[in-house]
Amino acid sequence: MKLSEKAEEILESMWIAIEEEGRGFTDLESAGISVDDPAIRELTGHAYVELKGERLYFRAEGRAEGEKTIRRHRLAERLMMDVLNIRGDSAELKACQFEHLLNEGVDTKVCTMLNHPATCPHGKRIPPGDCCEEARKSGDLGVVPLTELKSGEEGEIAYILTEDNKKMQKLMAMGVLPGNRIVLMQSFPSYIFRVGYSEFAIDTAMAREIFVRKA
Ligand SMILES: [Zn+2]
Ligand SMILES: [Zn+2]
Repeated sequence: MKLSEKAEEILESMWIAIEEEGRGFTDLESAGISVDDPAIRELTGHAYVELKGERLYFRAEGRAEGEKTIRRHRLAERLMMDVLNIRGDSAELKACQFEHLLNEGVDTKVCTMLNHPATCPHGKRIPPGDCCEEARKSGDLGVVPLTELKSGEEGEIAYILTEDNKKMQKLMAMGVLPGNRIVLMQSFPSYIFRVGYSEFAIDTAMAREIFVRKA
């Protein structure tokens, strides 16, 4: 059964408030949703959520559905930015429209194509699917932290996993950007890598945040 876009968006905002910000429930008023919104009836009808006064709580099924919905949204964002190279506000808008097309099966294909990314372009966690688990087990996870490379190995930068903007800017200034080639020159006592014609040294913590698709 396919939910309406509005219902999916409510599940997403609930996932962020409840699972990521630990708020326990979503307050209808602060979320700008009215009690008699048909999407609320749709969600309570599926027994996905429980409405107590102005507060919206997840039921187990709804939590699982919310997780899948947020996964589709963030995969759509990755697809927009990494593959289609769409940035800014239009990326957000298109991701919102596109996520609804990533239903069962399609999300797995997109996830595999993107090498099972762990985060969205904003650094938020993408809940892993079965495909991510299988890829990890069979060892064909193409994307690894820089720290997994041996000296002399190279790859293509897939993404940077940091929520620290200063670090992100520092790395970007070094040319550590998705799509660029990176060669690990040395891993002890610090990580020295080459991007383009320049070499840089960083510590282990930072090296762990650079994810590379091994060549
Ligand atoms: Zn995002
Ligand atoms: Zn996956």
